[in-house]
Amino acid sequence: MSAVTPGLVCSHHHLYSALARGMPAPPKQPTNFQEILDQVWWRLDTALDLEMLRWSALLGAAEALMCGTTAIVDHHESPNAIEGSLSVIADACAEVGVKAVCAYGVTDRHGADGARRGLAENERFVRAGGRGMVGVHAAFTCTDSTLRAAAGLAQDLGVGVHIHVAEGPVDVSAGARLESLAADNWLIVHCVNLDRELRGTIAHNPRSNMNNAVGYAAPARRFPGQRVVLGTDGIGADMLEEMRLAYVAHRADDVLASPDTAWSWLENGYALVPEARGDRVNWNYNHADSAWHVAFTPGMRVLDVVGADGEVLLREGRPTRVDIDEVRAKAAEQAVRLFRLL
Ligand SMILES: [Zn+2]
Repeated sequence: MSAVTPGLVCSHHHLYSALARGMPAPPKQPTNFQEILDQVWWRLDTALDLEMLRWSALLGAAEALMCGTTAIVDHHESPNAIEGSLSVIADACAEVGVKAVCAYGVTDRHGADGARRGLAENERFVRAGGRGMVGVHAAFTCTDSTLRAAAGLAQDLGVGVHIHVAEGPVDVSAGARLESLAADNWLIVHCVNLDRELRGTIAHNPRSNMNNAVGYAAPARRFPGQRVVLGTDGIGADMLEEMRLAYVAHRADDVLASPDTAWSWLENGYALVPEARGDRVNWNYNHADSAWHVAFTPGMRVLDVVGADGEVLLREGRPTRVDIDEVRAKAAEQAVRLFRLL
């Protein structure tokens, strides 16, 4: 017995992190969120070049499709390979047959010139017809003038800003600094330590928040009435798995929680990428379209994915447009190059 659902949306991803699995341990064990950024992610993104990024994105997109995820809202940073990076990601997703909304995470971590080049990459990509948002890493790594420039650019381009907000205590001033800039089309990610309401859609990433020990965002309790979507923050793109975890994390916070809430967060992804509704995902389980079944049924698998135009993108669990074995082999080669630099 099987069930057919629309394609799923991963509303916050980092396709650049697909090669990170198995990376060498940092020289010193990180003991808090800031140290995790310093010693893991900011060493990794600094080492990325466009060739590594291409195979990382191809692998991440293929793995998303294998989980029935046909749309990815990506947030990218590669400070030594900024120019053209969003096109590399968008092209890799298109090659696999996955829709992507790309953003480059602007930051002043690498000086004003780095921030300027990040803004320019967002602008270049969107003005060239790419589907994107203006990315900002987070308020705590940006000056006020960079935050204003990003908000202004997004307004000029007619898109929202995609930004990490108050993920850890280090960014607790994000609410105050962004309050006058945020707009309804912004995608505000995490909000775990956010001290006020902020305009925009909240991207909730429960697995990542647990993994970084930053606490539970409690979006249903803390921000009732605000639109919440689900992301993985770079830990794959298995959205039913993320929904299951979102449900049980919600339940751990509130015994009255129902899987319908986490399910609604998953479905809210269609507000960001409506066309994913046109894709058809065929599952090996006949209640894959039911919140209560999915919440308690780990391990269901995608059999086939058919695009809105009728093209078969995944057949019997394997992507049709790319050879997944080749993608894995090439990605592994790039991972070796990347790890050497770390
Ligand atoms: Zn993120």
